Amino acid sequence: MVMLSRVRLAAFIDALRRHGEVVAPRPVLDPQASGEYRRYEELRSGELPELAPGKPALLPASHLFLPPRETMLSYELESGRFTEVLDREPRVVIGVPPCEAHALALLDQALSQGVPDRHYRARRENATVVSLACAEPCWEQCFCRQMGTHRATDGFDLLLTPIDAERFTVETNTEKGDALTAELSGVFAPALDADRAALDSWNVRCDAAFGPSESWSADPRALVEDGADDPVWSTEAERCLSCGACVLLCPTCTCFDMVESVPLPCSAGTRERCRDGCMIPGFSAVAHGADFRSDRAERLRHRTRRKFAYQPERYGGGSYCVGCGRCHAHCPVDIGPIGLLKELEKDREEAR
Ligand code: SF4
Ligand code: SF4
Repeated sequence: MVMLSRVRLAAFIDALRRHGEVVAPRPVLDPQASGEYRRYEELRSGELPELAPGKPALLPASHLFLPPRETMLSYELESGRFTEVLDREPRVVIGVPPCEAHALALLDQALSQGVPDRHYRARRENATVVSLACAEPCWEQCFCRQMGTHRATDGFDLLLTPIDAERFTVETNTEKGDALTAELSGVFAPALDADRAALDSWNVRCDAAFGPSESWSADPRALVEDGADDPVWSTEAERCLSCGACVLLCPTCTCFDMVESVPLPCSAGTRERCRDGCMIPGFSAVAHGADFRSDRAERLRHRTRRKFAYQPERYGGGSYCVGCGRCHAHCPVDIGPIGLLKELEKDREEAR
């Protein structure tokens, strides 16, 4: 562990620029959206990241590695030649909150199994992730404490913790982080025993600020597995507008559709993928008009079970929900995982 003083932040960012474009959450005023929100953007020359508490970015850091739309390959129709398009641009993403770093670790796991996702991997392998510890829940919809992601444990290279107004502790989590720390030794200061003690105290205060970890008595996976026929799916889905906001903003959703784009004169084209999701009507439609989940209640149940049961079973690890609260906060009719899990638990208790 080493120390970074805020007065050395400019030197730190300058040094990071040697490792690629530096991207950080930045406040954006959008008159068409509801006021100000944060968006991951490249820092301009001389600009410093905020590195301060606040609402999470509208789109999570994982969308930098799995963008909403991307070209996967270009091709010529007559010759059949094609070229894979891989984005190997080096990037440093700074200010990633612990829950989003945890989401990256989950995606690293899911998208490296079977046939690895080369496009995600190319971006990820060429990126450095600098996480910023959260001192308290960043908004009322956050339930990362219940998902065990309020403290950064994985998915990052360096972790900054603002132990006082002037300084961050800097911890490394990977060989890339170790190398960066060694390279930037002139920017950092050594950590003293008093700094380690201050970090321990900061973490204790952080746990207290996030409150108790138990919001339900049962494991979420058991709740969604046992609650397959629970009426909550139908009652909640009656309000669902099928807008897809929940799946399009989620840091651990990965589903996409493929689009072939072949403009006139039809001699060459590109294959693109764009985000899609299981809450959007038609997502599970197949040839001859069949649709495996044409019903909203089935879609809601599938999405919830996917987060808490299917993906953990398939890829290992815990829930594929990190408790960021985006799906709940941006749902126009106030549907979210916490409400669903609590309702499942209540129904289970009443059935006993
Ligand atoms: S399911 Fe909702 S709360 Fe959980 S990670 Fe996705 S957007 Fe965040
Ligand atoms: S954001 Fe809400 S209304 Fe929109 S699809 Fe998801 S659950 Fe339904």
